[in-house]
Amino acid sequence: CGIVGYIGEKEALPILMDKLRMLTYRGYDSAGIAVSENGHFYVEKCKGKVEELEARLDLEKAHGHVGIGHTRWATHGPPSTRNAHPHLDCSGRIAVVQNGIVENFWELKQELIAKGHEFRSDTDTEVIAHLIEEYYDGNITTAVALAMQRMVGSMAVLVVHKDEEDRIVAAKMDSPPLIIGLGRGENHIASDIPALLHYTNKIYVLEDGEIATVTKDDVIITRYRESTTPQRLYDRRVIV
Ligand code: GLU
Repeated sequence: CGIVGYIGEKEALPILMDKLRMLTYRGYDSAGIAVSENGHFYVEKCKGKVEELEARLDLEKAHGHVGIGHTRWATHGPPSTRNAHPHLDCSGRIAVVQNGIVENFWELKQELIAKGHEFRSDTDTEVIAHLIEEYYDGNITTAVALAMQRMVGSMAVLVVHKDEEDRIVAAKMDSPPLIIGLGRGENHIASDIPALLHYTNKIYVLEDGEIATVTKDDVIITRYRESTTPQRLYDRRVIV
């Protein structure tokens, strides 16, 4: 029921865990994180508390300057480690966390299974990872935009692709909140403002239908429902 992201010069993991702890008041049944470095994902997730996730972390391996995290409130599939987020595509290159619901997930899942995708969870969220994989053609923002256009529902989504680990793509459909915290040489994402206040007081609240490409130095906002040119609304050089 909460999502977090970090990209910047610091180690992502401690910052993600701190922000996840700040979101626990929202209620949840599972937690998980993915951090990426040099084309390797470190993924850890479990049913239970953020403290249980913390106890499982392998700090030797969990390095990376980009990462996403999640606390889950199960809607599709029981609380379990395999249903906890992040969810990956078949190739293991795309990691996704989501709050909310993909209402047409069943139709999309059948379509993707027919195309050869193998699913590892009962969640609606996993459909998003496979759909992005299906559309991926070298640009993760474009692939997420195309996937968002196929979905019906209400959701906030974060995506990292291993081959483009200099960015996190964030997208919002309908109600679940998604906030970007603008830092110096780093940017943050979370489901609410209090989780960002340790790091920055400059925020951008994503609107319904928007997609953000977040790198350590800037945030580019565009709309996935219209094929307009991306607009560089928040350039770090301008806002600092
Ligand atoms: N629908 C997703 C699931 O059941 C996300 C739930 C949430 O918002 O945490 O895994």
